Amino acid sequence: MSAFFFYTLFYILISGCIVYPPIEFVSAGLTIKDIFSNWLGSENEFFIQYHIRRSALTLFIHSMLPFVFLFSFFSLGYTFGLILFGHLDAIEVLLGHANLWIIFITCTVLLPSYTSYKILTWSMNNWNKHPIAQNIAVYCNSTNNNSNRISWTTVASDINIEYRRIDKTIITTNSIICIIATDNWIIKVLPYKIMIAHQNDAILIVNRSDTHEMSPMTRGEVQFINIEVKSTRIGSQPFDIRLNALDFKNLQDKISRPITILQNITFHKTLLEKFIDSFKEQVQENPYYEYTEEVSQCIGCMQALSNVKLYKLCSNDIGNGNPADCMVCSCRPMWCIDCMAKWFASRQDEAAPETWLSSKCTCPGCRAQFCILDVCLIQPM
Ligand SMILES: [Zn+2]
Ligand SMILES: [Zn+2]
Ligand SMILES: [Zn+2]
Repeated sequence: MSAFFFYTLFYILISGCIVYPPIEFVSAGLTIKDIFSNWLGSENEFFIQYHIRRSALTLFIHSMLPFVFLFSFFSLGYTFGLILFGHLDAIEVLLGHANLWIIFITCTVLLPSYTSYKILTWSMNNWNKHPIAQNIAVYCNSTNNNSNRISWTTVASDINIEYRRIDKTIITTNSIICIIATDNWIIKVLPYKIMIAHQNDAILIVNRSDTHEMSPMTRGEVQFINIEVKSTRIGSQPFDIRLNALDFKNLQDKISRPITILQNITFHKTLLEKFIDSFKEQVQENPYYEYTEEVSQCIGCMQALSNVKLYKLCSNDIGNGNPADCMVCSCRPMWCIDCMAKWFASRQDEAAPETWLSSKCTCPGCRAQFCILDVCLIQPM
């Protein structure tokens, strides 16, 4: 009997890995989309058609899991029962609860039958009735003139074309969900369907956030935010996007609409952002450096004007040969304070952020060593 118990446990575990593949399965290519990649076609070429096929296949395979369990359970039980014991006691014990088994067997047969029937109905008339096609159909009357109603396949090929462009943003939030932003569309890919919204009539609201402690090895915390995506189109379904707060900027950059952030939501600062803040505070306390020439653009970000000069002010003497001492830098101002802070942070020991501010760094131009006391803001003349 315990062998059957372990088999059941093992089967549940494997089913779990099929429904929600762990990273190891994904990297080993043991997911439905990898195994059936030949039949599914190219996601890059025909994004919508690919996902219609993929979602139908996923639904079918998931619905088959209980049936396959039952089938393998009995065939294995039969074989092993005969081989090991020479009789079928185990199965007889199981069949003792006849009513329960009848219900279970009926369900395992009905579920895939119903799913197959559903998929068959969807697939008629070029997948017209599939939930993905229905979601897209909402965007068919692109003009106010209803007589010019275009078919959903026209909208689908618009999406396909945009998906082919290399400048789309793809954020994989876990092994079964990903968020895609193209020039005009926001798309959420789910196991059984995809949700879409056209950027022109989408309303995006960051309405929730939650923070989780990371493992002690990686230190710090990770913040997740929830974005509600609503469309003003009649018939469109709203959906939620949940993503790591660090990915928010990526998404925001690709979306033409403003994203409303509710007042009670605050984005936690990253370690680097916190460091930049304290770096700036410290530099504010140093004396200004008077610079009469015209300053150029920062070579780090190419946006801000250069506003810092490395000027040795700290007390240790120059030239006494100690390699740990700060040195004189004669480079002209080439960096803004934000970029200098980032450069400073990038040269520090990642594992010990509390030591960063008191550590030293080398000038990005001449490699002269400097400390935070030697970073001066430029006095505008
Ligand atoms: Zn800069
Ligand atoms: Zn220098
Ligand atoms: Zn110094």
